[in-house]
Amino acid sequence: MKPLITLCTILLSAQVHSVNLKQFPNEQQVYRPNVDVGFDQYRTKSLKGSNKVALTYDDGPHETRTPKLLDLLKSENVKATFFVLTQNITDKTLPIIERILDEGHILASHDHDHENNNHEEESEFKEELYKSVLLLEQLKAKYGSSQISSYYRFPYGAYGSNKFYHHFNTMKEVSNELYGENCINFAFWDIDTSDWVPTITAQQISDNIMAHVKGGTAYKHKVKRTIFGNTKYKMVKYKIKYPFGGGVALMHDIHERSIEASEIFIRDAKKNGISIVPLNEIKEFSYANKSCILK
Ligand SMILES: [Zn+2]
Repeated sequence: MKPLITLCTILLSAQVHSVNLKQFPNEQQVYRPNVDVGFDQYRTKSLKGSNKVALTYDDGPHETRTPKLLDLLKSENVKATFFVLTQNITDKTLPIIERILDEGHILASHDHDHENNNHEEESEFKEELYKSVLLLEQLKAKYGSSQISSYYRFPYGAYGSNKFYHHFNTMKEVSNELYGENCINFAFWDIDTSDWVPTITAQQISDNIMAHVKGGTAYKHKVKRTIFGNTKYKMVKYKIKYPFGGGVALMHDIHERSIEASEIFIRDAKKNGISIVPLNEIKEFSYANKSCILK
C-alpha cells in the first residue's frame, strides 16, 4: 500500500500546486493559437464563497481621477491593484505612481499602449511586453517597492486568438529571458462591472459587484444601435440567484462613475461583511514559490 499512498500524496500536491499557478501560463504546456482560449478556466476559484473581493483598476494613471480614488481608498483603509498603461507614466503622473506605492497598493502592467494584442505581430507584442515589464522594473529599482509586481493584464482580455502565435508562449519566453522563470501572471478578473459603458450608473456598477458576492440584481450591457461605427448601449437588468460568493472585480480609474461606485461598494461591503483583499494575498496570484528577480 505504501507506494500507492506516496503516489496519491504526489498527485494531490501536484494538484494543489497547479491551483496556485492558475493565473500563470502553464510551464509544461505549449499553447495552441485559436484553440487555447477562453476565461472560465481562470476564475479565481479560491474566492468561491469567501465573501472576499479584490478591487482592480485599469487604464490609468489618470491625472485627476486616480488621485481622487486614492483619497477614497486611504480614508476607507482599502488596498487595491492598479493595472496602468506604462506609456501613461510620465513626469506629470509619476507623483501619482509614488502615491500608489506609498499608500500600500499594488502597481502592475496593463500593457504599454492598450493595443489589442490579437491584432499584433508576435514581435510587436513581445517588444511591448518587454518594454512594459522593464519600465515597472525600473520603478522597482528606484523605489525598492515590493508592491510592484509582474502581473500583466491583457487589454480587452485579448489573448490567444492570433492565428500565428499564442501570447502565453511568448509571455513565458519573455519571462524566462528576463527572470529565468515563469513570473508573468496574466491576472484576469471574475467580475466585469461594465463600468466602461457610458450609460451605467455608479450604483449599478456597485450592484454588479455585490450581486456576484451576495446575489441579487445585476446589470449587463446590450447594443442599442450602431450608427457610423458609433455604438450606443443600454443596460439590462438580470438576477444572480447563485452567486460565486467573491472574486476579482474589474474597474477603470479613468471614469468618474467608477470612483463613485467604489465609494458605494466599499461602504456596502463593510455593512455586509465582505472583505476587500489585495490581489497578492489571493492564492492564484501568489508569488509564494518564486523569486522573480531580474537577471
Ligand atoms: Zn483596459
